Amino acid sequence: MKNMKKMVLTLVGLLSVFLLAACGSSEADESKAYIGISMPTQSAERWIDDGNNMVTNLEELGYKTDLQYAEDVVGNQVSQIENMITKGVDVLVIASVDGSALTDVLQKAKDEGIEVIAYDRLLMNSENVDYYATFDNFGVGVLGASYIEEALGLKDGEGPFNVELFGGSPDDNNAVINFDGVMSVFKPYLDNGQLVVPSGQTKFNQIATLRWDGSTAQSRMDNLLSANYTDKTLDAVLSPYDPISLGIISSLKGVGYGSDDLSLPVITGQDANLPAIKSMVAGEQSQTIFKDTRELASVTIEMIEAIVNDEEVEVNDTETYDNGTKVVPTFTVEPVSVDIKNYKEALIDSDYYTEAEINE
Ligand code: BGC
Repeated sequence: MKNMKKMVLTLVGLLSVFLLAACGSSEADESKAYIGISMPTQSAERWIDDGNNMVTNLEELGYKTDLQYAEDVVGNQVSQIENMITKGVDVLVIASVDGSALTDVLQKAKDEGIEVIAYDRLLMNSENVDYYATFDNFGVGVLGASYIEEALGLKDGEGPFNVELFGGSPDDNNAVINFDGVMSVFKPYLDNGQLVVPSGQTKFNQIATLRWDGSTAQSRMDNLLSANYTDKTLDAVLSPYDPISLGIISSLKGVGYGSDDLSLPVITGQDANLPAIKSMVAGEQSQTIFKDTRELASVTIEMIEAIVNDEEVEVNDTETYDNGTKVVPTFTVEPVSVDIKNYKEALIDSDYYTEAEINE
């Protein structure tokens, strides 16, 4: 039935190319596939960019789209996807709020012959996930931890340094893999004492931040500081996400860091959000990780085109992303570490931001 649907789509697609050529029209192609895009939240800049990039590029190619944001509520996401299934989408692109909460709705999609692409975040515990487009999530963790390794001179044997660790949302597989990447760099230094975690919190479940929420992280930092740092100085914080970094910085400033007497620790991040870049330019956040959402959209659109044209979908990783039920064929894009030295080249020269946006 799925192949039949694809065949019909391909035939209809060919016919419409012919008709469009005959009429000399560049109008959106009503007969082209209908793509449902389900995004987790508009509270973070990156997901707004992801959604906009997908819609703009798909519409330019003549696809019809339905973009919905779940505002970090699992129930919203389930009903939005159910709605898309009812409206007859052909392909679903899903960046989940909770990767394990969509098993039933994914089954409904499969029953209707809809192909599913997990976008950025892996959809867990379901065989009904066809492909995964993402950034190298282990690499994200390695980049953040390596930045701290370099900034503190750990390879040269410097230390001991006090460090605290923050993780992303425990219901997001990316957060778990990011943490594994971090630990692959930090473990030897934690073992030999060059890095010390005064709070003792080094397990993922101790450092995770539900829904990647900046104010939750800020409260945790407040508690860590008052419980462990009255007679110590914090040298570095591994933060997995820019809004978490900003929460941590506020907390640190609240107890006097960022002054002439006490400089801020090295602080990492993720996503190259505009406020984070501004903070970097102001000398506060040290580093972030640029994940070019335009590249991820383009990889995903290539997957969609291959699916609807019944061609082979290009992937570059068939081993890493086990969702608990199957290993999902994946295309990974490389993340880039950004700090004050290379942000212009990475973000402005590539037209991701303008200089004015950063300086305004
Ligand atoms: C994404 C990150 C993002 C985080 C919070 C993760 O799944 O991979 O890029 O910072 O969610 O939205």
